[in-house]
Amino acid sequence: MKYKFIFTLLLFILWYRVSCAQKINYLLKMSNPQSHYFEVELILEGFKQKEIEIKMPVWAPGSYLVREFSKNVNEVKAKDESNKALKSTKKAKNAWVIDNSSKSKKISISYEVYAFELSVRTSFLDLSHGFVSGSGVFMYVSGSQNLPGTLEIAPYKDFKKITTALPKSNISVEKDGSETFYFENYDQLVDCPIEIGNQVVFDFMASGVKHIVAMYGEANFDIDKLKKDMPKVIEAETAVFGENPNKEYVFIIHNVVNGQGGLEHMNSTTLSVNRWTYSGSNYINFLNLVAHEYFHLWNVKRFRPIELGPFNYDQENYTNLLWVMEGFTSYYDELIMRRIGLVSPEEFVSKIQSTVNYVEGTVGARVQSLAHSSFDAWIKGYRPNENSSNTTMTYYSRGQVIAAIFDVMIVSKYNGKKGLDDFMRYVYTKYAKELKRGITDQEFKKELEDFLGQDLTPFYVKYIEGTEIPPYNEYFSKVGVKVNYSGSKKPSFGATLKQEGGKVLVKNIRSGSSAEKAGLSVNDEIIACDGYRVDQSACESYINSMAEGQETELLISRDDIVFTLLMTIYSFEKPQFSFTISTDDTTKNLFSYWLR
Ligand SMILES: [Zn+2]
Repeated sequence: MKYKFIFTLLLFILWYRVSCAQKINYLLKMSNPQSHYFEVELILEGFKQKEIEIKMPVWAPGSYLVREFSKNVNEVKAKDESNKALKSTKKAKNAWVIDNSSKSKKISISYEVYAFELSVRTSFLDLSHGFVSGSGVFMYVSGSQNLPGTLEIAPYKDFKKITTALPKSNISVEKDGSETFYFENYDQLVDCPIEIGNQVVFDFMASGVKHIVAMYGEANFDIDKLKKDMPKVIEAETAVFGENPNKEYVFIIHNVVNGQGGLEHMNSTTLSVNRWTYSGSNYINFLNLVAHEYFHLWNVKRFRPIELGPFNYDQENYTNLLWVMEGFTSYYDELIMRRIGLVSPEEFVSKIQSTVNYVEGTVGARVQSLAHSSFDAWIKGYRPNENSSNTTMTYYSRGQVIAAIFDVMIVSKYNGKKGLDDFMRYVYTKYAKELKRGITDQEFKKELEDFLGQDLTPFYVKYIEGTEIPPYNEYFSKVGVKVNYSGSKKPSFGATLKQEGGKVLVKNIRSGSSAEKAGLSVNDEIIACDGYRVDQSACESYINSMAEGQETELLISRDDIVFTLLMTIYSFEKPQFSFTISTDDTTKNLFSYWLR
């Protein structure tokens, strides 16, 4: 009797818990694709609080810019289980509060999202397809981001396929083309972009993982070739980390006129590429991009800066470490091309030379440190203006150069037995797998110091937190690459021009240049040099043929007022380097190991 009572009580508690459990279900519809509006319904059950706050993220993780996605949302409406309207009040640019003082069992919140920006981090809908970048479409319930839930997608009647890395829900009932997916938490929901339409879908196995590729847009891809080459990239990268943590991985590829790059996710990526990228010399650019985004599944999505997770969707998430996340990834996307045999060791060294010369030849590299470049990605890197080359240096390129330096330092320290791979595998295993958390700036530096057995403080002060030029030869000669300084003083104009509507306009002006000293400004129209009317190429060749100290009179139009400026030509020395492979008996093996 007693046991029967306890058993009944337990059953009651279980029933009570299940019936009162909070449930979140999203319904995504797109009945009018030509209007570019996704219709979203957020159905909440078991939410007892008097006021329910829902919010739209202001940014998409991986793309460090506040994009204010709520600008695409019109009204937010709410009703209870008996279809009675509940008051919805807008509280902030991206937040609404739903009045739940009547303690409704079930609340339905609905809104429409305008989606007409096709990029890897924004959403798009038209009659040809729909693309959902979750953080700009799905709102979250404040304080409930850790709840699991479902997403039912009802595609437009002519869209036959849905491709996403979200797992199918086991309660999935497929009716009229609808499919239901499951997510463990809000982060997972918005980390899985969704392609809905009539995309070409194929799959292949690589590193024991099933890879699904969804191709949107006409393009010159060859599926058999991709099935052969993409696994090479994947296997080479899996070998770096020693394991591939996914069971399934999805590539969503948008083939468009002007490809813009990719965005990384835990077990998927979206790539935006030029539709004719799949043949000739452009093909390597495609595989480069695949290598870049795929590498991120370890570097930044799992091994990550401590600041990047759990994400604060309301504001900027500052980190100094994007030079590791993006710079090291850029280094590897090229190194992997070497490892799969698409680039020779000589070509790889020449690519490093080009990157070094781009970095050191940019005035901004002497102004903005790597750490600041990362921290200010939100307001500078992602918001370039006409003065950016004077004030910023991208953490992609400079980070790539620093990664190369660390690689050759490790290769030489371990005498060709270890390289940057070993360090990456070590920090990935320790932080992502064992500690299950991000890494701090100090920890990253300490781990590198322990690995290299040397104090890196001076290196950090000069090249990571400072803006000095590293002694390239000191590092690269250890693996048999001589680096000579090849910069020299040359007469220099210091302005870049563009031709627009028949006018020659100033595009950029280098700080301290002849152009700046003469008083030239961006957007000025140059009509004539020394009385000769010029187009862009005539203007450039006229000025570029001048010697140091020579003067020229420029006829300028600024805001439709015409006047002359006298410009004296000054010389400028752009720091440049030449890299030459010159291995000897001691460095031959190290070079071969480095670029194996
Ligand atoms: Zn990246």
